[in-house]
Amino acid sequence: MPAHSPPLVRACEHCHRPVVGKQWTDRLCPACYQYRRRHGSDRPLRPPGGWLCQQCGQRCQGLIRGRCRPCYQYWHRHGGERPLRRPPPVPRRCAVCGQPTRESRRGRCPTCYMYWYRTGRERRTTP
Ligand SMILES: [Zn+2]
Ligand SMILES: [Zn+2]
Ligand SMILES: [Zn+2]
Repeated sequence: MPAHSPPLVRACEHCHRPVVGKQWTDRLCPACYQYRRRHGSDRPLRPPGGWLCQQCGQRCQGLIRGRCRPCYQYWHRHGGERPLRRPPPVPRRCAVCGQPTRESRRGRCPTCYMYWYRTGRERRTTP
């Protein structure tokens, strides 16, 4: 038998965090207990993989006002939402002439499409 027993550690019933004996209230850890008392509902738990930032959509370990840390800091400093870096649009290529084109109608660039539309044939391209 050990001289003194180790402190009783139990798991919070909500977040499963280990809680040392005295802090275990109503089968909850202090954080969960406080939250439940204050809000009348269970403390939202961090989903597996992290929270989703509502601004940039990145997963992160904690949200502040629904934002990840960089988004929150930007918002706090500038008073506006952090501009999002979106990947540039992938230019599509015309199936007929092979030119990159922003607009693609039936796989053709506007020139090739108009030609095809008017003549019913594919525009001939000479390399
Ligand atoms: Zn808890
Ligand atoms: Zn973010
Ligand atoms: Zn074309």
